[in-house]
Amino acid sequence: MTDVASWAPSGGSTRDVALEVLLRGPLSRTELARRLNLSQASLSRLTKPLIEGGTLVETEPARDPATGRPARPLDVVPATHQFAGVKVTGDAAHAVLVDLRGNVLADASAALVDHDPGHVVDVVAALTHELAGEADVTGLGVALGGHSPDHRSVHRAPFLGWDDVAFAQQVEQATGLPTVLENDVAALTAAEHWFGAGRGLDSLAVITVGAGVGYGLVQHGRQVTHRDMGLGLVGHYPLDPNGAVCFDGHRGCATAMLTIPSLTAQAGVALGRPVDFTELLALARDSQPVARRLVREAVTALGRLVAAVANLTMPERIVVTGEGVALVDAQPAALRLAIARDRDPRASPLDLVTRPGDFTQWARGAAVVAIQDFVLRAP
Ligand SMILES: [Zn+2]
Repeated sequence: MTDVASWAPSGGSTRDVALEVLLRGPLSRTELARRLNLSQASLSRLTKPLIEGGTLVETEPARDPATGRPARPLDVVPATHQFAGVKVTGDAAHAVLVDLRGNVLADASAALVDHDPGHVVDVVAALTHELAGEADVTGLGVALGGHSPDHRSVHRAPFLGWDDVAFAQQVEQATGLPTVLENDVAALTAAEHWFGAGRGLDSLAVITVGAGVGYGLVQHGRQVTHRDMGLGLVGHYPLDPNGAVCFDGHRGCATAMLTIPSLTAQAGVALGRPVDFTELLALARDSQPVARRLVREAVTALGRLVAAVANLTMPERIVVTGEGVALVDAQPAALRLAIARDRDPRASPLDLVTRPGDFTQWARGAAVVAIQDFVLRAP
């Protein structure tokens, strides 16, 4: 196991200072004291060991916007630590190497030949080793479409056919790295919260559309977690009383209306031949009636889901991402119309961001979970 020095040696308020600089820095001492409600004397006492230990550095002098005087803002040096993140799907593993602020330094992918946990461990270890090279990696995060309430074992992962697999322990044995598991949507939400579209915001909702439908939430600056995260919670949210039926028998639920497998299966039945997602979107663009209807109904259902999230959880921003986000680009007007229909006309305009949801982003989410595990760990 790699020897991991604690990031904020005495925890507590010292860690709060380090964390604030990691998430918002560079910050002047005045601004930092104001944000954490500390006196300048307390702040000096707390920052001293962090600067001496190398967690924080004084950057080039700049004029402090609060006092107008020249000051040396505090910051972290992202390159001091590197983390690996791997997203495991049903047929491949996608890996990234990131720095302390989640900036992607390198990426790599490999196919999964089968779903045997031993094989998946070997693939994860090989990708991590390939990306790390000579670098000293501090921690590894693994994200998958599944349920891992203790972040050590996979309780349930339908895409892999796993039940109760002690995956983190096996990966640690193969890599020698501290390893943490997380549901993939929770991991992606963590990355958007700390280093992405939600940076600096108090609340954020993330909706993912692709092989499944996922939902993550940040409230009061903290990600909402629950032991059921990774079960099909939002996946069966009702969106269309006349829609298709999912494998669990719900008519018009999010899984039936929005997931790529459901949409391509419906197109395949209607057209009497296999149709993949790229072709479905192309056919919709060419006004093929079945494809156009399927895409319009999917985008309308997504609009209902976005409006429901906005109405019920009132986030400052909603991010829609995932491999299926191209649906929105196909019919943006249908999305706006569906959202407006379910919102009070006097409600504030939605801050809605769509982000391309490629596998590098999912793997980055896994790496950010490893960063969180490291910086929030008790000293
Ligand atoms: Zn359902």
